[in-house]
Amino acid sequence: MTFDDLGLAPEILKAVAETGYTTPTPIQEQAIPHVLGGRDVLGIAQTGTGKTASFTLPMIDKLSRGRARARMPRSLILEPTRELAAQVAENFETYGKYNKLSMALLIGGVSFGDQEKKLDRGVDVLIATPGRLLDHCGRGKVLLTGVQILVIDEADRMLDMGFIPDIEEICKKLPFTRQTLFFSATMPPEIQRLTDTFLHNPERIEVARAASTGAGIKQVLIKTTRDGKRDLLQKIIDDEDLKNAIIFCNRKRDVSVLERALSKAGLSAGAIHGDLDQSTRTKTLDGFRKGNIRLLVASDVAARGLDIPDVSHVFNYDVPSHAEDYVHRIGRTGRAGKSGIAYTFATREDGKYLAAIEKLIGNPIPTQEKDAAAPAPAEATPSEPETAAAEDDGKKEAKRSRGRRGGRNKDKAAAEPSQETAQQNEPAEKTEDKQPQKTAKPEEKPARRERGGRGRDRDDDQPVVGLGDHVPAFILRAVKLPKKNTKETDDELEAESEDA
Ligand code: AMP
Repeated sequence: MTFDDLGLAPEILKAVAETGYTTPTPIQEQAIPHVLGGRDVLGIAQTGTGKTASFTLPMIDKLSRGRARARMPRSLILEPTRELAAQVAENFETYGKYNKLSMALLIGGVSFGDQEKKLDRGVDVLIATPGRLLDHCGRGKVLLTGVQILVIDEADRMLDMGFIPDIEEICKKLPFTRQTLFFSATMPPEIQRLTDTFLHNPERIEVARAASTGAGIKQVLIKTTRDGKRDLLQKIIDDEDLKNAIIFCNRKRDVSVLERALSKAGLSAGAIHGDLDQSTRTKTLDGFRKGNIRLLVASDVAARGLDIPDVSHVFNYDVPSHAEDYVHRIGRTGRAGKSGIAYTFATREDGKYLAAIEKLIGNPIPTQEKDAAAPAPAEATPSEPETAAAEDDGKKEAKRSRGRRGGRNKDKAAAEPSQETAQQNEPAEKTEDKQPQKTAKPEEKPARRERGGRGRDRDDDQPVVGLGDHVPAFILRAVKLPKKNTKETDDELEAESEDA
């Protein structure tokens, strides 16, 4: 099958041909005719499958007929992160170059004024992160009653980030008779419930299981210690023909610390995580894509779903506490038929996380004895298993979301958010699923995740505000804490105290 067989208009086919793509990917082949035909689509597909073009191409086709009215976008695409939103916008620019469609991007880190001017002129396509969109709605700057096509992309990621209440709120503002295209890499029960509510007789298209790992990716597990990781990484960088790499850490502050250490060692490194401002994130990603930055140290929230072709190595500097993240992380390499290597550094404390990953991918990760560092110590670092994955990118967004749910229009702060508040339209990070006991069953995600539960407001770098009346169990354990872990323990205390 070729793109010509899909029923797309000639100007779109011309733009596609200019990108060099000749054959539609399976999701494109299956979804495009249904989208053109007006059906709702449930696409179970992850990034890398060509899913973005599977909705942008037919949307451009459909939207090329008709005109936009002021403040009333004709279509809406919801993305969990700014980067993904920007990536979709790029797709529209590439494939829509011969169509005169107008587009606005409502994401944090971009000034309200510019976006409002665009909205005032009328847009065919509005691409937004949920929080920022609700801010604009609250300010009366955008009316969603004219939306004919809604796309909810990366729905399971939205769930992880606590955006589902926002999406439900947004959907209430949309017309009932609309076309809905819904994409998710996995279908946990909460997502199934959403699709039952928001999709009307959808065409279900499933192209790849979330648990599948690319065939071109060589996976290597190396057992090490927390302190041995840095040397191990350096050794691999020195020994191997390493073109470039994404190095994943579980915590934002570890991302920054590692990036600084690598830069200090004379390596070309950049960092990306949710606390960095948007222009820095964009600049760093561009630098990595162009080859000016060789080592990108990243958190999950900032890097998931990004389309960065040609990554030779991925490092799980920390074993992800959520098994599906392993698949997404290593999927950054071995893309588009290329081969890649994914190293995972595991400490003695990572056993249960590794077991969950190996269960998900269906086989053990081959182990390699490559650690020059000392063997794992007998005693476990007490705080690590409980806190290692505690990135808190979403705390501010979650706070704002709760504020909105508490009365958006009555709340002046919500109705007229400051620029600073708006810039914090950060993706939230998973929280409850970082509790070790949840990780053993990666598919079962707790329902209260949607409401922003324990740990959402924790801030790694904030002082402890109090204990409440609850003493966390690990404090009662007779373990002598080494100095360097004090802060992590404080985080636990803070999270517990907020729960209490
Ligand atoms: P996505 O899954 O939308 O993130 O797309 C993954 C990558 O595949 C992007 O770099 C696209 O530009 C690329 N791509 C999309 N469609 C095709 C196609 N039909 N043939 C080859 N590459 C494609």
